[in-house]
Amino acid sequence: MLGGETLYDIAIDSGMKVAALLWPVTAKSSIQYNMPEIFANRPWQNQIMVSLFNGSPLFQISLNNRFGALRDGIKQPNLDNFTHESLLYTIKEKKPDLILVHYTDLDTMRHHHGFHSKEAIEALKRHDIRLGDIIETLKKNNIYDDSTVIVLGDHSSIDEDKIINLNILLKENGYIKVDALGNIIDYRAIVKTCDGSAYVYVKDMHNKKLVYEIRDLIDNFNKEHKCIETVLTSDEARGLGADPQCAMMLEANRGYYFLDHLEGEIIKNIEPNEAGKVPDITNATHGYSPFKEEYTTVFMATGCGIKKGIAIKKMNLVDEGPTMAKLLGLELKDVDGRVIEEILE
Ligand SMILES: [Zn+2]
Repeated sequence: MLGGETLYDIAIDSGMKVAALLWPVTAKSSIQYNMPEIFANRPWQNQIMVSLFNGSPLFQISLNNRFGALRDGIKQPNLDNFTHESLLYTIKEKKPDLILVHYTDLDTMRHHHGFHSKEAIEALKRHDIRLGDIIETLKKNNIYDDSTVIVLGDHSSIDEDKIINLNILLKENGYIKVDALGNIIDYRAIVKTCDGSAYVYVKDMHNKKLVYEIRDLIDNFNKEHKCIETVLTSDEARGLGADPQCAMMLEANRGYYFLDHLEGEIIKNIEPNEAGKVPDITNATHGYSPFKEEYTTVFMATGCGIKKGIAIKKMNLVDEGPTMAKLLGLELKDVDGRVIEEILE
C-alpha cells in the first residue's frame, strides 16, 4: 500500500510529463501516459479491459493497435516484447520527462524454471538486448545526453522445491472450519502467504492465550519438519514495517515457500515439471525477508547526473525513490530511505 507521495506524483505536480508501462500500483493515478499493471480478477474481464479503465484509454488503445499482436495473455517473453515496443514508441512519440517500465520476463522464467536455469539466463540476455534498444532509441532521438537510465529490481528470488500449507495444520487442529465444499466458514487463526514469508492472523488479537497456543502448534510442527527459519512476534513484524495487524510473521527456510491451501499435504514436495503448469506452484520465488542471505537485487544507473565507475556496496530499496527524485531536481519528503549521494555528480 502507498502511504506517502510517489515519485510520479511529485514529478507531475512540478509540471513534468510521466509515462508508466505495467509499473505496479499506478492504477487511477494522474500519470499522463499510463498502462497500469493490474491483472484481471474476474473471469469475464481480460487484461486489456481492466487496464483500460484504470489507465489512459487512448494511449493504451494506440499501443494495443500497434503492438497488441506481440502479446499472448501474460505469457513471456511475449508480454515483455509488447511492453518493450510500447516503451520505444513512447520514448520517440511522447518524450516524457520520466518513464517507468516494468519487465517481468526474468521473474517469470525464474518462477517456472529456477534461478540459474537456462531459461532465466536467456531472459537476462533478452533484457540486455532490450537495454541496448533503449539506449539506441534515446541516441536516435537526440535525448541520450540529457537522459539517465536506471535499471533496478525490487526483489531477487530463491530456488525452492517444497510448499508449506499451514492452514491444513490449523484446520486439523480446529482453528479453521470449512463447509462440505471446503469453503472457510469460520476461523480463529489463519495463515496468509506472502510466498517466502507468511502472516499468521488470529480473529481476536487481544487473546494472548490463543496467540501462544498457535505459536506452540507451529513451533512443535517445525521441530519435526524444520521448514521455518524464524517466527517474528507481532511487535517484531511491525518494527520491520510489516503488517501490524498480524499475530506472527513466519520466514520460510531456503527450499520452502508458503501457500494457503486447505487440502492435501502440509508439506508438499514439488514434482519435476509441475511448476508453471499449476499457477501457484513454482521452482523459485520471492517474498522472503530482505535480510535473508544471498537474496539481494540490483540497482544500476548511468547517464546524466551520474558519476562514472562508482560501486555501491550496500543500499536499500527505500533509497531508490529519494535518489531518483534528486536526479529529477525534486525531493521526496518524509521517506525512510536516503539519497545515494555517492553516485551523483
Ligand atoms: Zn514474481
